Amino acid sequence: MTDAATPAAAPRPATFTTSSPATREPIAEHPVDGPEDVSRAVIRARAAQAGWAALPAGRRRGHLLRWKKALAADLDAVVRTIAEETGKPAGDAALEVVLTLEHLNWAARNAERVLRRRKVGTGLFTVHQRASLVHRPLGVVGVIGPWNYPLYTPMGSIGYALAAGNAVVFKPSELTPGTGVLLAELFDAAVPGHAGLLTTVTGAASTGDALARSGVDKLAFTGSPETARKVMAVCAETLTPFLAECGGKDAVIVTADADLSAAADAIVWGALSNAGQTCAGVERVYAVREIHAALCEQVVQRARTLRPGAGADAAYGPMTLPSQVAVVERHVTGAISAGAQALLGGPESVRAPYVAPVVLTGVPETAAAVTEETFGPVVVINPVADVDEAVERANASRYALGAAVFCRNGRAGAAIAARLCAGAVSVNSVLGFAAVPALPFGGSRDSGFGRIHGEEGLRAFTSVQSTTVQRFTPPIALTSFDVPAATRERAVRLARALHRRR
Ligand code: NAD
Repeated sequence: MTDAATPAAAPRPATFTTSSPATREPIAEHPVDGPEDVSRAVIRARAAQAGWAALPAGRRRGHLLRWKKALAADLDAVVRTIAEETGKPAGDAALEVVLTLEHLNWAARNAERVLRRRKVGTGLFTVHQRASLVHRPLGVVGVIGPWNYPLYTPMGSIGYALAAGNAVVFKPSELTPGTGVLLAELFDAAVPGHAGLLTTVTGAASTGDALARSGVDKLAFTGSPETARKVMAVCAETLTPFLAECGGKDAVIVTADADLSAAADAIVWGALSNAGQTCAGVERVYAVREIHAALCEQVVQRARTLRPGAGADAAYGPMTLPSQVAVVERHVTGAISAGAQALLGGPESVRAPYVAPVVLTGVPETAAAVTEETFGPVVVINPVADVDEAVERANASRYALGAAVFCRNGRAGAAIAARLCAGAVSVNSVLGFAAVPALPFGGSRDSGFGRIHGEEGLRAFTSVQSTTVQRFTPPIALTSFDVPAATRERAVRLARALHRRR
């Protein structure tokens, strides 16, 4: 009990502790930011954004490139933080930082070209107008991120939103807040005089919910479709625009004439790297019957040499999210009890926090290992009669994020790619599209909607304003009550005559 004379101690802010996915050793403590903290961050961001948007484009580009240089200079610290929080090997974390640098570089250097005012042509009755459009920043963008690529994935929104002239409030996953905090610290050090332009708030679902309710001008979400639905429902209350980058169940199609060694190499990497915890990772393979057995053999040969762990010789790390281990186990045991054959590993491969490689074949298309996102080092390689059946099965998914085609002839591969329901397709490689900053990235169905990266990814964080400037009084002015009826009729006759013919 506190007596009236003794002032009560200030309540300690609530915190949460992150821990190593490999050892469960604690890493760091972070505040649980509540609605008031988030609201303060958004107010500061709004104040900072006005000055940022008013800068000449060249100055903004210079600031962002300085931030990029700071990230490159501090690459080791960033890699350490990502590796510690996710458990992934340092080499994988370094690849993530390298990809991020490439994207930030592209966004910074291309924003002005993509978003600046441009003239557009006018029409028959508008020749007296000069018409143009310009993409203007939205204001403050909220970004909610996942843990599997805690830098690369949210930076697809953060870097492009800042380049487009916005401020950002970022809520990283509760598993990887340290990466988000470091990102904002590096920004503040590299871009002095713009405090509040990029703020990281930390916490779990309640902090993300507060960000969705905070009055941001757009919310860019990356995570599972289940969470996307909840956040989108909150955004709907205020008509806050929403962008969803969700999961995938990416398929690879292998044709009879494909280079099987190259296909097996790419499939193994696409399925197992980052312990299979990649939204556009390889989860399903449809191989035509003639080469199915040979492909399986090559995949198994490569995969059996790889092992998860924490040491330097480990190919990949632990499952970052402890609860995902049970999902992987359920998919593997479910597939086998439904008649699938385990070509490598099986339920015994699941030894939390690690999962050794699992290669399955003959998996019924109705099994969870085919229909749900496994998000673990498991790959299903099913035989198909021909490319048509492969395309049909690849497309019969609730997800539509990425895909790949292996085919001797690139042109024929591209023709198969065009038949796939996927936001991005790589021919004769996996995930090739994710490394090209000029290419938009995103999916449809349960994989979400909207695009990050590339020109679309810059425009995603803007609103377009159309302008006309009248150059002279038109000979036929239709927007006046003074127009004689005969003039109006002449205009209609003219339009009808013209549009009937062309
Ligand atoms: P998740 O949906 O559990 O969480 C994502 C983020 O949402 C986290 O920051 C979390 O704290 C926050 N959140 C949770 N509940 C919330 C709520 N009610 N309101 C607001 N925010 C809330 O996803 P995850 O486990 O962090 O990430 C894995 C998923 O992300 C997988 O499905 C993966 O495929 C997907 N992913 C997609 C892409 C892509 O670009 N398409 C990239 C990486 C990961």
